Amino acid sequence: MRGQVPDCAVQVPGSLQEALEILAREPGRWRPLAGGTDLMVPFAAGRLADTRFLSLQRLDVLRAVEPDPEGITFGALVTYTQLRQHPYVQRHLPNLAQSARVTGAVAIQNRGTLGGNLVNGSPAADTPPSLLAYAAQVELTGLGGARWVPVDAFHTGYKQTVMAPDELLTRIRVPRPEPGFHFYRKVGTRAAQAVAKVCLAAYVRVEAGMVREFRVGLGSVAPVPMRARAAEAVILGQSVDRLPLAEARAALMEEISPIDDIRSTARYRRIVAGNVLVQALMELDEALSRC
Ligand SMILES: Cc1cc2nc3c(=O)[nH]c(=O)nc-3n(C[C@H](O)[C@H](O)[C@H](O)COP(=O)(O)OP(=O)(O)OC[C@H]3O[C@@H](n4cnc5c(N)ncnc54)[C@H](O)[C@@H]3O)c2cc1C
Repeated sequence: MRGQVPDCAVQVPGSLQEALEILAREPGRWRPLAGGTDLMVPFAAGRLADTRFLSLQRLDVLRAVEPDPEGITFGALVTYTQLRQHPYVQRHLPNLAQSARVTGAVAIQNRGTLGGNLVNGSPAADTPPSLLAYAAQVELTGLGGARWVPVDAFHTGYKQTVMAPDELLTRIRVPRPEPGFHFYRKVGTRAAQAVAKVCLAAYVRVEAGMVREFRVGLGSVAPVPMRARAAEAVILGQSVDRLPLAEARAALMEEISPIDDIRSTARYRRIVAGNVLVQALMELDEALSRC
């Protein structure tokens, strides 16, 4: 633990309007601070050039969780603990519940937020693959109003997003999936407290023996969390009795662009990502044969 806290300034606005006004006055000068679980690491190490924080802690409007018949809307400050304990999430969005369960340990789950995980933009983050598989959207709000952006279009490059410096990520909307098959797997060095080497979330809806919906979200295999659109296209519309597993695996391995780093190699990530996709589709087959 560090005894000396670097100099910093913190503003703690009491309303969203006030927060947005501060951002608009000096775009890029004030760094939104949610749970602080990402920000406090470089801050404590003296690696944050910008030490002006705009704390979101008093913005209770960003803590709301609002389920409705068509889906659920989360305020950006919803924590992993809230996510994993929420009955709607457990019932309809098991991949998201599982992402929250495998994120950090209890302290991180109590403090870390869904909004922070998205904006931080790590390609290895655990919730984006699930949000991609569920075709979620994020709401970005500035003084001029709010706009909705698909999670798929939110990250533009390594730790880059479409969010403007005078905007906040305010809400995350997840449409309620039709009954279907859900799959989530994080491959890490350990079962707990590990950064993903590969992460894959999938949602599949089968009707009359044919794959009618299929979305795959991936983490740790590209500069951004990504949809496996080529692999999805191979499987979509196919009969579940004759899924072209090898073709889907090859398409996924082709469309990702993993790197070598301290946690793994590009080769390992490519092979494992392909294998995990096959695992998901084989588990789909098993689940259907039990019906
Ligand atoms: C020990 C440890 C273990 C971890 N394990 C995992 C793990 O297993 N999986 C994983 O995915 N992550 C993990 N993390 C990373 C981190 O906990 C998550 O990314 C978390 O969700 C970040 O949320 P936060 O609220 O703490 O974000 P903060 O640290 O407050 O902010 C992160 C970034 O997002 C911006 N930001 C936050 N909220 C908003 C908003 N509403 N609008 C605009 N900008 C915003 C901030 O300015 C900052 O750039 C871990 C971190 C630690 C320290």
